[in-house]
Amino acid sequence: MSEVTIFGLGLMGSALARAYQRAGVSITVWNRTIKKAEALEAENVVVAPTISDAIVASPVLIICVDDPKSVLTLFGHSQVGRLLDGRTIIQLSTSLPKQVREDQKWLAARNADFLYGAIHCGPQYLGTKDGNILISGPSDSYRQVENLLGHQGGKIAHLGDDIAAVSVLDLAWLSIRFGEFLGMLHASNICQAEGIDLQKFISMFPDNERIQHHVGTIRDGTYDQRTATLSVWQASLELLKRQAMDVGIDAGFPNHIGTLFDKAIKAGYGEEHVMALFKVLKGDGGTTY
Ligand code: NAP
Repeated sequence: MSEVTIFGLGLMGSALARAYQRAGVSITVWNRTIKKAEALEAENVVVAPTISDAIVASPVLIICVDDPKSVLTLFGHSQVGRLLDGRTIIQLSTSLPKQVREDQKWLAARNADFLYGAIHCGPQYLGTKDGNILISGPSDSYRQVENLLGHQGGKIAHLGDDIAAVSVLDLAWLSIRFGEFLGMLHASNICQAEGIDLQKFISMFPDNERIQHHVGTIRDGTYDQRTATLSVWQASLELLKRQAMDVGIDAGFPNHIGTLFDKAIKAGYGEEHVMALFKVLKGDGGTTY
């Protein structure tokens, strides 16, 4: 038996797995496309061939896939759901407050504990002092996995018993990020159109790592980086639109930036850095998007 099973071996799931491996925590992994597990298997990590095998392998199950409904997507089949009895599920896939509340009820009916978390750092920071994950859900459940989660970084925080709190705060945080993206893209466009070197603009913000990184990516054209892809950001943007519909608030902001993301995906930039948005914005010649 392992201490924890990780479902999903994308950029983040793999980083979670590797952080546990470095810490000496025994893990089992599962990925929909099993080929992605080969590298870990070669390092003696147990790869579960089926979801059922992955569930029974550990008392704690961490999900990190690019699907907000992944609790049901992975565990919804009745044969599989029965195996969850007594286990703790930690959902680290970005999801919606409404979905997270439903997941909690669904899992409680199967006698499983549930925590929801948002990863607030790049994959390279997991397992370091800057590894940052916010968790919400029942305190008793959190205490049982606190040490296990602690291996993922120095900034793991429990924000209280309300299961949806972190999902709400994460969406609010994402809104700020998307606003920053738009500002940085337009600022870069202004500078380049007027013949001002982007380095001069970046130099105005010596203490702002985000501007240095993102505008620096545009300056250097280094869109091929192993970090959250444009597609992964777009999936989060879709959640902002859906949450606005769920609670009846204005969706103008996510809809507006969403058209730019759609264009970039259509142009084939989905697997690139989110600042590849600049490539579709740049050639727009002043049209609105
Ligand atoms: P990624 O590199 O694009 O990998 C996506 C993963 O999700 C793959 O393992 C994929 O499986 C799996 N997947 C997608 N839909 C699935 C489904 N319906 N059923 C089963 N597996 C499915 O994405 P990522 O960057 O690891 O992101 C994973 C989650 O972490 C997302 O919710 C994202 O919002 C969150 N997150 C990521 C970052 C970041 O910096 N990357 C930061 C914070 C939060 P296949 O291999 O079979 O396609």
